[in-house]
Amino acid sequence: MEKNPLNFRPNEVFLIVGPCAVESENQLRQILDHETRPTLIRGGIHKMRTNAKSFQGLGDEGLDVITKLKKERPFDFITEVTDIRQIENLLPTTSVFQVGARNMYNYELLKELSRYGRPVILKRAFSATITEWLGAAEYLFNLGEKNIILCERGVRSFDNKLRNLLDLGSVIYLKKNTPFKVIVDPSHSMGYTQYVADAAYAAVAAGADGLIVEVHPEPGVALSDGQQALNLAQLTEMVKTLKKLTTVFEKELRM
Ligand code: PEP
Ligand code: MN
Repeated sequence: MEKNPLNFRPNEVFLIVGPCAVESENQLRQILDHETRPTLIRGGIHKMRTNAKSFQGLGDEGLDVITKLKKERPFDFITEVTDIRQIENLLPTTSVFQVGARNMYNYELLKELSRYGRPVILKRAFSATITEWLGAAEYLFNLGEKNIILCERGVRSFDNKLRNLLDLGSVIYLKKNTPFKVIVDPSHSMGYTQYVADAAYAAVAAGADGLIVEVHPEPGVALSDGQQALNLAQLTEMVKTLKKLTTVFEKELRM
């Protein structure tokens, strides 16, 4: 079975960073070269866009970029799988599969993923109750609790100022009542760059085991979700504060 890069000791908070979508070798390289030397890298290969005309991800071309960069330096790649037919293709480069909010209820996909022994980040659907979310996690049961990572990414609410409503209550509840790792995606929760770092700090205070944050070297030209991406300087700032904050909780930041 693959080593789970997210299966850390309880006193660690892991930070996954990377673009919403893999767009080019240069884009990824700039993130890998960041002064914090991140080794847990997210990036969409297959995107599930709300609009069919929006950028759908580079597909195999994106995987070639990852394969090439991995030959130069080691890092763990975390990417979303949107369809059972993509799994085999993604396996050689992917350390951790992500199931997106739009697919939390896709039980056939979850059942299939449970066969590979590779950790899965299961995002909460837009309007899933905690019970429904845990119900979905049951389909991954065969992976073992250490390989099931629940990701709070905000839920739909009546409010429209922010992209979603970041439910940190769920993090507190899940940490107290389930054996799973619980991480937070402050990027999709808030939807705007200026709020992302503060939401990340709040997530750490709520007890999250990790964070998954969208970072782009040039958010202004991002092909998806540029409005919520941190640039590299903003990543530096966030990491600086996260290091201090995790110490307060007697934890260590790992990235
Ligand atoms: C993403 O991580 O880029 C994404 C699409 O997230 P979500 O499934 O939470 O909307
Ligand atoms: Mn995104």
